[in-house]
Amino acid sequence: MSALEEIPLAQPVLGPEEEELVLDVLRSGQLSLGPRVPAFEEAFAAFLGAPCASAVSSGTAGLHLALRSAGVRDGDEVVTSPFSFVASANVIAYERARPVFADIDPVTLNLDPAAAAAAVSERTTALLPVHIFGYPADVPALERLGLPIVEDACEALGAVHADGTRVGARGHAAVFGFYANKQLTTGEGGMIALPDTAAKAGIDAERNQGRAPDMGWLDHDRLGFNYRLTDLQAAIGLAQLDRLEGMLGARARVAGWYRDALAPLVAEHGLALPCEDAGGNRRGWFVFVVQLPRDRDRDDVIRALRQLGVQSKPYLPAIHLMSYYREAYGHRPGEFPVCEDVAARSVALPFFPAMRADQVEQVGLALARVLDRR
Ligand SMILES: *Cc1c(COP(=O)(O)O)cnc(C)c1O
Repeated sequence: MSALEEIPLAQPVLGPEEEELVLDVLRSGQLSLGPRVPAFEEAFAAFLGAPCASAVSSGTAGLHLALRSAGVRDGDEVVTSPFSFVASANVIAYERARPVFADIDPVTLNLDPAAAAAAVSERTTALLPVHIFGYPADVPALERLGLPIVEDACEALGAVHADGTRVGARGHAAVFGFYANKQLTTGEGGMIALPDTAAKAGIDAERNQGRAPDMGWLDHDRLGFNYRLTDLQAAIGLAQLDRLEGMLGARARVAGWYRDALAPLVAEHGLALPCEDAGGNRRGWFVFVVQLPRDRDRDDVIRALRQLGVQSKPYLPAIHLMSYYREAYGHRPGEFPVCEDVAARSVALPFFPAMRADQVEQVGLALARVLDRR
């Protein structure tokens, strides 16, 4: 192994199968609104065990349409997690509703159901839990609040709830994302898993300018968007679905190597690793995020790792403390102490299916060297 080899944070698995299917689409001449999109939707829904699914141009677009489909309107409130990628809160603001944050569970890092319950008001019209880092959110507990639920499952393809249901198949709109670092990629893209074909019909119309399936070009009976996935992207998605089980297994294997490699740093330095699967829940591995001990300067650690050939990054920042959210909603530090503590200490390490055992070892040795420095 070359000492100069820099280990990237993420890396997709793409092969001749993807190339072949994309070439077929190119040669067919039908690059959009063709047969690959419904084929991808059906295969994806079958993988999840969900009744149906709608493909969209991104995870963000999917969350937006799913929220509209849940009936969220101007002036409503949606309870969600501040420890997420910013898209899950932004889509609430798209509809001029208010994202109401509730603190997270310190172990799973997902929305704390008790905090979510306390944040519900008479204006709350939906809950938007996020399966952060691929660990199943406690959706069963949130269901007891009796509100429509939109699940941000963009990081959770392959995750399984305690009752054996895959994340995304509990009967709510659940959104997956296919950006290049996700478990399955189409470059950009997303999918909304849905409980019934009526919900799908509405979403399919809204992703396509509000055009109903039985209508011609001339009339649009609702406001719509262009949130379509192309057939080129759907072709990549179909090839990726074929290799999904293998890629998920490889991610889980890499995570196991990391647990072994970093165990001494947990004992000696108080490094915190992603929580273990508990109570029958199973993570769909997306990233490997560690939390540094509180007395470490994260920027220094990231800089030192880079010098040792290891990419890493702060992941994720608290949404309510981003400048847009501070200015638009008046948020201040101290509101969600668990989220703020975790967000200040979290570092994503290189993590991808093709990662080798010796690369995991190199990351472990680099982190040990950095943490040993005092
Ligand atoms: C990736 C991701 C999204 C969607 O991102 P897009 O880039 O729009 O596909 C949404 N929420 C979370 C938590 C994500 O990680």
